[in-house]
Parts: sequence; structure tokens; C-alpha cells
Amino acid sequence: MLIDSHCHFDFEPFASDPAYYLTLARRAGVGTIVIPSVGERNWLVVKSLCQQFDGLYYALGLHPFFSQEHSQYALSLLSEQLAEVAGTEKKDRKCVAVGECGLDFAIAGANRERQIELLSAQLVLANEYGLPVILHCRKAFPELVSVLKRTPPRAGGVYHGFSGSLPQAEQLIDLGIKIGVGGTITYRRANKTRNTIAALPLTALMLETDAPDMPVSGYQGEPNRPDRLFNIMQSLVEIREESEAEIASATSLTAAELFRILM
Ligand SMILES: [Zn+2]
Repeated sequence: MLIDSHCHFDFEPFASDPAYYLTLARRAGVGTIVIPSVGERNWLVVKSLCQQFDGLYYALGLHPFFSQEHSQYALSLLSEQLAEVAGTEKKDRKCVAVGECGLDFAIAGANRERQIELLSAQLVLANEYGLPVILHCRKAFPELVSVLKRTPPRAGGVYHGFSGSLPQAEQLIDLGIKIGVGGTITYRRANKTRNTIAALPLTALMLETDAPDMPVSGYQGEPNRPDRLFNIMQSLVEIREESEAEIASATSLTAAELFRILM
């Protein structure tokens, strides 16, 4: 079974009928979904969704895209939430990471200092609770790398929705960060990303849809879905040397190990 390592399964259209979309996912061979949160407003939503269904796991974090929305108490609230689920006593095995967190300098008027402060603090929390991080980054690669070097995530992490160059991917891998492979590679014109992903060690890769965002080729204009992880895997098979079975099991194993999900 495949693992969708990044899917906003608490968003519409999934929120209206999660059981239906989970069935579609399972039919396509996707048995596990990791749901990153965006901030205070959906921490409890993702947590309760994961309590209701098998195969769903979540991450708690403060998404940089919504940094204007995070309250001044956001970090201490996050720390409290993590203490409840990731501390030694009340451990909720469904909480598997801190995220998503990161830097998004593509937003008009981005408050870069605030974003860097929130990311650094979340890296500290991840280390404190022994969790990996789910990273989001747009137009801030050098800044992200320097924050990661200052506070290395000891339980590792994943750079989600990677679409950069080979040297960038190698820099991340050197920092212990896995590469999240999403729908970009399903587009033949995405040569740079396809060539980069083809050249990386298979053990550094994990699959993700980022659904309902990032539609795969052939389904533009509709919300993306976790069952389309299968299409992303097919594109990976197309651009790499290894067999479909090897790619499926290696990418699932990498995600399962990072998030410590028992398969
Ligand atoms: Zn996301």
C-alpha cells in the first residue's frame, strides 16, 4: 500500500464525505494519508479526523502562508498541543510530525522575520518532542537552508512539493531532509523537476498529492485527490530505472520510517 505523505484531507471536498474518498484512495492502493495542519483553526479538526479513521495520521504546525492569521499565542498553544499528544505520557501515535511549517516569501508583503521566527521555534519544538518536520518553502530556499543549519531537525523531515534543482535537492538530503514528490512530475513539460527527481537516490523520495491542491496531469481544474497518488507513482516509474514494485515499496518505506508509521 502507498502512503500519501501530504494531503489536506480535512479540506473540501474530502471533509463532506471522508469515508467515500478513503475508499477511492484504498482502491487505488493508497492505504495511509498524512494530514498536515495549517494553524490553530484546524489542529483539533485533523486530530479528530484521524481518531475516526484507520490509516490517517496528522501533523501539528503553523503554516507560513497563514502567518498573518497565527495569534501571538500560537507557539505556546502549539507547544501545549504537542505536549498532550507527543509527550511521553499521553502519546497519540497518530500525531507523526510538526507541520506544515516553513517559509513562503512568494506571498505579497510577506513578513520574513516573523516567518523565520515561527519556523525556528517549530524546529525547536520538533526536537523537543522527537518529531520530524514537514516543510513548505516558496522563494526562500537559501533562507530555509540557513534556518535548518542553525537548528537541525534531529528526527529529520520532508521538503514537500519539491520542484527545484539537483544541487538544491542534494543540499536538503545532506541535511537529513527527504524529498516530497508531487504532481509536478506528471507534466511532461516539467523537465527540470523530472530530471532532478530521476537523478536522486530512490531512498530519498516519498510520494504526496498535496490534495486538494496541485492537480495531476489530465485532471487540471478539478480538486486533486489522494487516489491520484497512483498517477504520481506511475510518472515516477516512467522517469526512473527501478521497477514499479521497487518504487512503490521504497517510497512507502521512507515515509513510514520518517513518520514512524507501522505498516
Ligand atoms: Zn500543504
